[in-house]
Amino acid sequence: MNKNNQEPIVEMTNEMTDEMTDEEANILKVVFANNISAMKISKILSEHSNNILLTDYIVTGLIYRLMIPMTDDEMTQSINEAESILYASSSDEEDTTDADTLDDTEDKDEDLNTKRNIKYNSCNCDICNKCRVCLINFGEFIPNDPLSTIYKNSILETCEKYNLIL
Ligand SMILES: [Zn+2]
Repeated sequence: MNKNNQEPIVEMTNEMTDEMTDEEANILKVVFANNISAMKISKILSEHSNNILLTDYIVTGLIYRLMIPMTDDEMTQSINEAESILYASSSDEEDTTDADTLDDTEDKDEDLNTKRNIKYNSCNCDICNKCRVCLINFGEFIPNDPLSTIYKNSILETCEKYNLIL
């Protein structure tokens, strides 16, 4: 990306252990933006099925976002949202949010010990249709950059962990 930059190689200082490099910060931002966007897809899947947010929809959202890259507009919007969250002062955070999220997870009565096929809804809107196509093609999908490879592997690990068959 910035191969022509004349920046000197960063000296090894104590700061390095505490602070991220710009490159690391950018990667974090992109990964975060990607996850924000994936969660929106999961939410749509859930809303279009009158269901609670199942693990299946979260995984499907991640798969969708991996296989169908964000448009420039979506990327800009998601990066903005990621930045507003990443750079928000800690005092802005609501402690209740974490508690609520945990409760939701515990309330879910999913059987995680039995292997089963990943669930999808029967909605025929554009997003839900594309999600089903992505699920079908995910196995053959070959990531074209290192970050996508990490992403794909983490999706596979998640499915393994929750006994989901793709
Ligand atoms: Zn739909």
